[in-house]
Amino acid sequence: MGRAFTDKKLVIASHNQGKLREIRDLVGPLGIEVVSAGELGLPEPEETGTTYIANAELKACAAAERSGLPALADDSGLSVTALDGNPGIYSARWAGPEKDFSIAMRKVEDALQEKAAAGNTDRSAAFVCALTICWPDGHTESVEGRVWGDLVWPPRGANGFGYDPMFVPEGHEKTFGEVNSDWKHSVSHRAVAFEKLLKQVGLDGTSGDAG
Ligand code: IMP
Repeated sequence: MGRAFTDKKLVIASHNQGKLREIRDLVGPLGIEVVSAGELGLPEPEETGTTYIANAELKACAAAERSGLPALADDSGLSVTALDGNPGIYSARWAGPEKDFSIAMRKVEDALQEKAAAGNTDRSAAFVCALTICWPDGHTESVEGRVWGDLVWPPRGANGFGYDPMFVPEGHEKTFGEVNSDWKHSVSHRAVAFEKLLKQVGLDGTSGDAG
């Protein structure tokens, strides 16, 4: 186990409304007061890392340093097998300045069609989520979770956010855009990472001595 989380308040270092909603759902039952980076007027740091965890650490520590409170950040994305893991850490950027995910999904589909024309019909992908808690003293605890699935075209469903409407998790038929948030939390990369993080910081209720 890593450092125990014993604080009463946590900053969520994200400006993405979809992520904020999901992280609030996940943190809610813990009885910890949460406040978002946006509510505190904290700026969004530039994501200069080359891995999901590096970017999650960068965001969490920027918020912890500025707020003087422990901060939780998420860096996530869609890693498509046939596209060598892209868009990956650049998943948000593929949506362009308007953050239009119908454009981002279309780009993924176009790239997959190109691969298919060249004989590679693999449509598998993983959603990956890195979560970091950073304390004001700079200490970090980080985890990663993923969920495998297949990409469908056209996109289906208006729930969720980002690439959800084209992602069908393995063993299921509906896209993340077609299910409710409780259903998504039962399998998602974010929920898997969150469960790992709770264990790592002694908030899973089974760790006993916090060390
Ligand atoms: P970043 O972590 O801020 O770099 O952005 C990650 C991007 O990945 C988001 O803007 C979404 O487009 C995508 N993404 C991450 N998690 C999910 C998810 O649960 N569903 C759909 N798209 C996601």
